[in-house]
Amino acid sequence: MPPLPVFRTKADLRQQVTAWRQDGQKIALVPTMGALHAGHLDLIRIAQSKADRVIASIFVNPTQFAPHEDLDRYPRQEAADRDALSTAGCDGLYAPTTHVMYPAGFDTSITPGRVAERLEGAFRPHFFGGVATVVTKLFLQALPDVAVFGEKDWQQLQVIKRMVIDLDLGVDIVAAPTRREVDGLALSSRNAYLSDAERAAAPVLKQVLDDLALKVRDEPAQLAMHMEAGIKRILSAGFRAVDYLEVCHAETLSPWQAGDPARILVAAWLGQTRLIDNCGLD
Ligand code: AMP
Repeated sequence: MPPLPVFRTKADLRQQVTAWRQDGQKIALVPTMGALHAGHLDLIRIAQSKADRVIASIFVNPTQFAPHEDLDRYPRQEAADRDALSTAGCDGLYAPTTHVMYPAGFDTSITPGRVAERLEGAFRPHFFGGVATVVTKLFLQALPDVAVFGEKDWQQLQVIKRMVIDLDLGVDIVAAPTRREVDGLALSSRNAYLSDAERAAAPVLKQVLDDLALKVRDEPAQLAMHMEAGIKRILSAGFRAVDYLEVCHAETLSPWQAGDPARILVAAWLGQTRLIDNCGLD
């Protein structure tokens, strides 16, 4: 297997991408923060089915972390990630330094609109601005035709879809289903933080989401009661706090009303680890 080309600068990345584009090849980008797992590799496979060349990026983006969050302890394992991408047949890794991404004097950012206000946006006010800005930069640096994002981060996916339309970014956004462990826990780089006892408690999130999906469909008038019961069940399984458990309009993330396309989203704390998950009604 040929070694995975690694690009550290915008110029090196752009040189390769330009050559592929001149050759008429379609390019897909898979943005990540590394510590790759099987869910990320699903994104690579989907990207391969949509384009001739696939670039993965790894960048732990400081502007989407608040000062009290886990930027410093976020898992970093680039050598293992390179091996995984190489085995998956990825065509290149873009792994810029923070200085390459945010040189001295950097002073411009993207502010997403209402889709970013509630849920994650309410609990992590800095988050979607940081994501939108870095994703826009990655798009302009890599000039992809297609980019693949996971449904695991459902609100992020909607923020990016909205941004691409609103700013005429011209990138086709493809959604990948959430990859889960056999007990239902969504794969996440942050699962590595969990103790054995926390790991054993974690699947309750998906169980509650699945139960609520049935209840929202069958008894929408009792929604508030079912939400309250869901929160209680998460807490009694050992979670420390529930930031939100809500049924929302699947695209705008505004509060759900009967007839809207629905998505149920949850964020909850297991000890020091914050987990998020979501599901549709089917
Ligand atoms: P991250 O490295 O966590 O920022 O995630 C990079 C991309 O992988 C994002 O588009 C995520 O939504 C996606 N992703 C993360 N976990 C999963 C998963 N379990 N299944 C599918 N996609 C995922």
